[in-house]
Amino acid sequence: MKEGFVLPESEITSDEDINLINKYTKRELNKNEVYIFSLVLCDNEIDRDYERFTSESLETLAKLFEGKTGILDHDAKSEKQLARIFSCKIQTLKIKNSLGENYKRLIAKAYIPKTQSSEEIIMQIDSGIKKEISIRCRVEKKLCSICGDNINICHHTKGKSYFNGKNQVLCHAILENPIDAYEWSFVAVPTQVAAGVIKTFSNTNQEYDNSLDIIEKFKNESDKKGMKNLYNVIKNMENEIKIGREYINNMREDVLKHLSFFNPNLNNNTIKKITDSLDYEDLKNLQKNFAKNNLVKSQLAPDFAKADSSEFLEFKI
Ligand SMILES: [Zn+2]
Repeated sequence: MKEGFVLPESEITSDEDINLINKYTKRELNKNEVYIFSLVLCDNEIDRDYERFTSESLETLAKLFEGKTGILDHDAKSEKQLARIFSCKIQTLKIKNSLGENYKRLIAKAYIPKTQSSEEIIMQIDSGIKKEISIRCRVEKKLCSICGDNINICHHTKGKSYFNGKNQVLCHAILENPIDAYEWSFVAVPTQVAAGVIKTFSNTNQEYDNSLDIIEKFKNESDKKGMKNLYNVIKNMENEIKIGREYINNMREDVLKHLSFFNPNLNNNTIKKITDSLDYEDLKNLQKNFAKNNLVKSQLAPDFAKADSSEFLEFKI
């Protein structure tokens, strides 16, 4: 069962629509006798069951769902048959799905004959009370996105992530070769579940130039479940890196002052080039050496940094 929703746009019945509708009616209806609306039946995104239709599957479903009746809560009693789909098409949006493919969805147009008994459901659709829908269909193959085998047989688990040698990728079932579409239904969906909302993903398969891009990626997705903790860890690491960099820069300045003091004939630029090339271990060794020789701040004070007398002691190791 897959989730979809009614599109909020109000529809105006065209001549083409009424011709298509009349293929399903006992007598010819005119434009004023029908209410029409559009709905999204499904898409090519990984859904809440960790399953995904391929673009080809959507094309097949478009044919299978034409003429199918919509019911309420998947109850197939005739009085609950509310509407009928009279046309289907694939819509490609200018966004990518989570696999980096063009996001595609199956849009259907449905009609309800305007009668006294259908007034209520039409009002509920118009007001957005009846919005969430789900579909029931059968597919021939459910393939594992990791190994390509039947997902019911292979050793991978839907919803788990696996390392493909480059990235962590989510295991999901690829739904191929739909062979039957049973019905579609208006459903009551618990409000905490984000049904009826188009799931949009940024492209997670793109190459990242460096680790900062990845951090930015997590920042952008930090509102998503599971990303928040990871983002906080990265944020703390960023802070620690910043503190570490400041500490090393202070060490470098301190060493530069000492080297300048003891090598007054050396050009300052040359000394700076030397200290810039030193790593943490070199700087630490030099500071230790200065400390051993009792080079206390007071000796340097006349020439250097009188205002920050605590600085040297702070970085004396
Ligand atoms: Zn597998």
